[in-house]
Amino acid sequence: MRFPFALTKKIASHIIKHKLRKTPKFAMVLQLEPLHTCNLTCTGCGRIREYSTSLKDMVPLEQCLAAAAECDAPMVSICGGEPLIYPKIEDLINGLLEQGRVIYVCTNGMFMRKKMRDYLAAIYSPAIEPMLQKLLAGKLITEKEAEVIRQSDDTAKKKAVIRPTQWMYWNVHVDGLEFTHDLIVEREGVFKECVEAIKMAKICGYQVATNTTVYRETDVAEIEDMFKYLSSLEVDGHTISPGYDYDAAKKDMVSRLGKDPKQFFLTRDMTRQKFAKIEQWGQAFTIFGTPVYQEFLAGKRELTCTAWAIPTYNVKGWKAPCYLMTDGHYPGYQEMLAKVPWEKYGVVDGKARDPRCEHCMVHCGYDPSGALGTNYQSGDNWKNFKYNFGAKPKPYPASPELAKRAFNGATIGKGHLAEAKAIINSPAASARGAFSRKEGDPGSNGHPAHVGSHCGTTDTAERDALLEKIQDTKKAE
Ligand code: SF4
Ligand code: SF4
Repeated sequence: MRFPFALTKKIASHIIKHKLRKTPKFAMVLQLEPLHTCNLTCTGCGRIREYSTSLKDMVPLEQCLAAAAECDAPMVSICGGEPLIYPKIEDLINGLLEQGRVIYVCTNGMFMRKKMRDYLAAIYSPAIEPMLQKLLAGKLITEKEAEVIRQSDDTAKKKAVIRPTQWMYWNVHVDGLEFTHDLIVEREGVFKECVEAIKMAKICGYQVATNTTVYRETDVAEIEDMFKYLSSLEVDGHTISPGYDYDAAKKDMVSRLGKDPKQFFLTRDMTRQKFAKIEQWGQAFTIFGTPVYQEFLAGKRELTCTAWAIPTYNVKGWKAPCYLMTDGHYPGYQEMLAKVPWEKYGVVDGKARDPRCEHCMVHCGYDPSGALGTNYQSGDNWKNFKYNFGAKPKPYPASPELAKRAFNGATIGKGHLAEAKAIINSPAASARGAFSRKEGDPGSNGHPAHVGSHCGTTDTAERDALLEKIQDTKKAE
């Protein structure tokens, strides 16, 4: 089976229950943001900027658990900020497991190995020596760290830890191969750390997924290579979504300046071009999401946004209307469902009800539409069933050539960050007056320019501009 049976059954039962009850709107995935603090400052990340005044705030543990219970989504994606910074992350995960949720811990990967060492210390007995030896052989832990695990005392044994279970996935943010990913997260070495964390997780028995956002400048061939490499590491599944700059005001600004909007963000047409091969990818790799959503991304059909099915809860409450846009926060999920004028959002039959939605095709708006049968077409149920219950694609064969293609940045001495900065500050770039935007330039609704984004779904313009400058300057030199 492509996805574990128990998880598929849980999600299918949830949909059937609500269909039988004729519940008009219900949650499928809760995007839980217990905090917005992050150890990275990725280019274009909206979360750390939109919530810059509340970065130190956290949702208390009990409130997080109450929010999950209230909306009753079978899946909870714990994101942020970086959720592994949340001081009670272990209690949060364990509390959600007790509620019977399927959990995705969306992380930039930098603290995963530390959390897994805590787990190994908590369970240490000589029986796990072969596992430690494997980790040591792969240089995934040091001798010193292995010794700390072996010497774990009562406190370490009693500590709440994140244990492997079929109900939880690490969901690691990977936006490309080494050069691109490190560039986007603005720190060299992050891709390498993600890979090491993934390898360690697999040895320790965790399930691992990855999430990737495709930007205007994303090279599709690189995404395929990335899937091959991640698949060779035996990653259990991948989420992929188009990045989207929904900022209508920015679009106006662009049109007033007489520029082609296509120079600045991913339009629907461009998304469809980028995702033209998504169905092939879905056959070759374990892509999460429904085949119906894949057809939508490939431009083969229309879907209507069902943002209410993937609600976001954070320090300010229930964020409406969606993960990307913020028109308000509500104290309760049911209150949000009742008060938000949902009929004013999304795109129906190709027409945007709200100009900000015009080019949006992101998974948090449209993936549930495929599962819930919105815009149902004959054969959809069978298609979804066949995809879920079909054979899981085999891991892509690992090879030194593939690994070499993956580590195309800092590892081979191509420190992109220094290179990127040099290029951006080069006379060639300044002379061209390439797209330059300063932090704090106004975006929509008078906010700073980065609004409503996170690992995986974000304001694309700044990242695109950075990648474009580098590519253009390289061409010009
Ligand atoms: S995109 Fe994710 S990892 Fe990057 S700064 Fe934002 S929250 Fe942190
Ligand atoms: S179409 Fe996109 S931007 Fe608009 S409400 Fe839906 S998810 Fe949000």
